[in-house]
Amino acid sequence: MDKKPLIIANWKMNLLLNEEVGLAKQFAVKLERFAEKTEVVVCPTHLGLIEVGEILKPTKLILGAQDMAWGENWALTGGVSAGMLREAGVRYCIVGHSERRRNLGETDDMVNKKALSATSHGLTPIICVGESLDERQAGKKEVKVISQLKAALKNIKGDQPIVVSYEPIWAIGTGIPAEPSEVALMVELIHQTLVDLFSLDLIMKNFRIIYGGSIDSGNIGDFLKLRYVVGGLVGTASLNLEEFTKLVQVTKLS
Ligand code: PEP
Repeated sequence: MDKKPLIIANWKMNLLLNEEVGLAKQFAVKLERFAEKTEVVVCPTHLGLIEVGEILKPTKLILGAQDMAWGENWALTGGVSAGMLREAGVRYCIVGHSERRRNLGETDDMVNKKALSATSHGLTPIICVGESLDERQAGKKEVKVISQLKAALKNIKGDQPIVVSYEPIWAIGTGIPAEPSEVALMVELIHQTLVDLFSLDLIMKNFRIIYGGSIDSGNIGDFLKLRYVVGGLVGTASLNLEEFTKLVQVTKLS
């Protein structure tokens, strides 16, 4: 692993605003000392971006968003664009999380539009790809992940930073992470797909691959040992200050 580890806290819709603010303050105290060696991105709800952003501003912790809309200034009720997120100090944005694909019907095309809009506004998209349990059992996980990734990267030039998060759906929020050996094969496939689309120079410079799915302080080290995996997208464990602090600390030592 020759890139700085990247750990992303995805709080989802779990916390009220005052709880987000409280946890962000604790993150700022506990995690700052690791943030030199590990890039820590905190993704509150859109509602929490401004206040959490203010708390993170004097630290090396980075503000991320959980989702975005594509385009600018158009009639999309409830939408928040990449430009708006940038104005709020956001640097990373998760796009195509399986929870949004599954529960809100987000399509590959929408994910691609979001990724394009993010990169054109200087936001780094964290593009989530991953197969369901059914697809895995039917032997279709490779086909699924390659097609999601290719669709998400359509018309992307590769000249801006992009993170690809391999997130098998069956491992998200279940407490059952994928086996590192299985992740190794899938991230190799993701890397190969990137090689089909971009030059090695661009891949080395701008692309990072991470894993997400029931990561905790006890297993993060195993994933970071894998070739091509430089970090993790963390849901459940990022809501627990002690556990997340331990996780980030282990990351620094990996
Ligand atoms: C996620 O939010 O993408 C995630 C991987 O959640 P968890 O860590 O809870 O599995």
